[in-house]
Amino acid sequence: MWSQQDISSHLHAIGLRAGDSVLVLSSLRAVGATVGGATGVLNALLDAIGPDGNLLFPSFTLGNIVTAKCPPLIMSPADERLAAALTTPFDAQSTPADTNFVGALPEIARRHPDSYRSLHPLYSFVALGADSEFFTKATPHHYPLGSESPIARLFQKDGKVLLLGVPYSANIALHLAEIWAEVPYTRRTLNYRTSGDQMCEMMGVPGCRIGFCRLEPLMKQSRLQRAGTIGSASSRLFSMRMATSLATTYLYGEPSGLLCRNPECDRCTTARKLCATAESTSDDT
Ligand SMILES: [Zn+2]
Repeated sequence: MWSQQDISSHLHAIGLRAGDSVLVLSSLRAVGATVGGATGVLNALLDAIGPDGNLLFPSFTLGNIVTAKCPPLIMSPADERLAAALTTPFDAQSTPADTNFVGALPEIARRHPDSYRSLHPLYSFVALGADSEFFTKATPHHYPLGSESPIARLFQKDGKVLLLGVPYSANIALHLAEIWAEVPYTRRTLNYRTSGDQMCEMMGVPGCRIGFCRLEPLMKQSRLQRAGTIGSASSRLFSMRMATSLATTYLYGEPSGLLCRNPECDRCTTARKLCATAESTSDDT
């Protein structure tokens, strides 16, 4: 059983410091049993960053998605009605984070009395700390992980990313690099249901992240990340700016470079075709 003090000292050992702003992507199961459970881990993180730092968590609510236009998802009108009936309208104050997707810690952070949450119906973030409002106020509707999003603001603040017991494919911050590198597949749209029970279209839906693992060897070889164990969780800490810049440069050279290689992944198969079309068009001009 890890104490909160154990977790705090492990966070310090990996390089988290007072005053840091950090995006936390986490698996509490990987951390192992901790005194105080999830709240104990959250308190250790708050201790580590101190009163001047900030914690940022994804509090996505992807159950609101009804249909995706691109890649084409063929649904019968009956299936579409069923999918619509299964979705929950988003309310920033009360809709829980999708813990299947983001883990349990963001939901604990969301319930903290001092937390702020951005208002995106699908891709909201929770912030705790000195600049919580800066991270969560007036975030964009389209391209929810692009410019002006909470993760772009983390870049602006020269923040860090902590992969706490999760693989590199959990690094949602790399979606910002895909948008800044203008890879063709970031222009996808999808429809979702709003809190007013309206259907709404969003541009810039983030795609598959499995291929993000390909960047990890580059991060290691470039000495851009620190590795360590937090509780029992194998973890990594790195600079948001360094990781984004490296990924953006990589994608400029190879726009399809972060797509996964699973032939059954519809999203990546479609995305790869979009990249090939864009390349042949640019060769023609
Ligand atoms: Zn994929």
